[in-house]
Amino acid sequence: MEITAAVLDGVGEDFVLKDLTLAEPEAGEVVIQIAGVGVCHTDLAVQQGHLPFPFPGVVGHEGSGTVVAVGPGVTKVAIGDRVAATFNSCGSCSQCTAGSPSYCDQFMPLNFSGARPDGSSTLHDGDAPVVSCFFGQSTFATHAIARDRNVVKVADGLDLEIAGPLGCGVQTGAGAIMRSLACPKDSTLLVVGGGSVGLSAVLGAVVREVGTIIVAEPLASRRALALELGATHAVDPAEGPLSEQVRAVVPAGVDYALDTTAMLPVLGEIVASLAQRGTLGMVGVPADPTSALPVGLIEIQLRGLTFKGIVEGDSDPDLFIPELVDLHLAGRFPFDRLVTKVPFAKINDAVAAQARGEAVKVVLVHE
Ligand SMILES: [Zn+2]
Ligand SMILES: [Zn+2]
Repeated sequence: MEITAAVLDGVGEDFVLKDLTLAEPEAGEVVIQIAGVGVCHTDLAVQQGHLPFPFPGVVGHEGSGTVVAVGPGVTKVAIGDRVAATFNSCGSCSQCTAGSPSYCDQFMPLNFSGARPDGSSTLHDGDAPVVSCFFGQSTFATHAIARDRNVVKVADGLDLEIAGPLGCGVQTGAGAIMRSLACPKDSTLLVVGGGSVGLSAVLGAVVREVGTIIVAEPLASRRALALELGATHAVDPAEGPLSEQVRAVVPAGVDYALDTTAMLPVLGEIVASLAQRGTLGMVGVPADPTSALPVGLIEIQLRGLTFKGIVEGDSDPDLFIPELVDLHLAGRFPFDRLVTKVPFAKINDAVAAQARGEAVKVVLVHE
């Protein structure tokens, strides 16, 4: 079928809307008519050249919409179902079968190879293949092919246009607190970075009844939003060393910290903010993929520190996304407060606005 997609032709290029051909769905695949698609840091990391993904290609990995066709063997969803798309996974490796698909053995090829496992693309420009299957979806488009494995039906009460971010940024932040770190009631938490992942972590921390929730964020508008969403404190890293600001609130240091920045000077301050036996969760994507954490081995032992790398909030999307939707519909997880809807055709303006911090989570919608 003929579709329109936002194509990236190379590092640093703007997105260009082009008419492309979407392939017929093969076994296990579903075609989604996109209602909305969130803009995530990882999409921009491709545009900025921080993540290897071939060009010309279509990214976008927080898509939601309506199933309009299914390939052979698909029983999980049917035509007309409302779905959110999420990351892809194989479903058969030891991590997938243990309920930890974000650590799938095949995570990198299934989400970043730019093609189906057989090497074919789901998108063509005339006869020329266009790189596709980004996070198993490439949803910066009017329509996309995903696999039944990486789509999740969403409840009727949810605004379908904003469901996509549940499949990446929102589940990453909320899942980091609710699943990966499993912060207990009345514990103390530092969230560094008040973007969509950090603020989703705040929402998750409120659900877990975390006692002290400190958000560190340079933008005043995001600090204000963090407080509205349930953070107990919001600090400006420009106003002095972060560890001193944290210990002014919690003198012993925090039980848990979540870093969304992957910036080494910031990480040093976060480690200095941890309490004895504190745990640092890490979800940031470093600009330099060779970045390493500089922490002394003796210090790690004597302070009993735990460092936890986190992908997608340890989410098993088939379970966690419905859990988040239920919390949202009960008024306990207002992630819609993070969202700014922008027409799909304004994708370049929207990306720039999000980069400037004017929007926490842009969701591109089709008119
Ligand atoms: Zn797997
Ligand atoms: Zn993402």
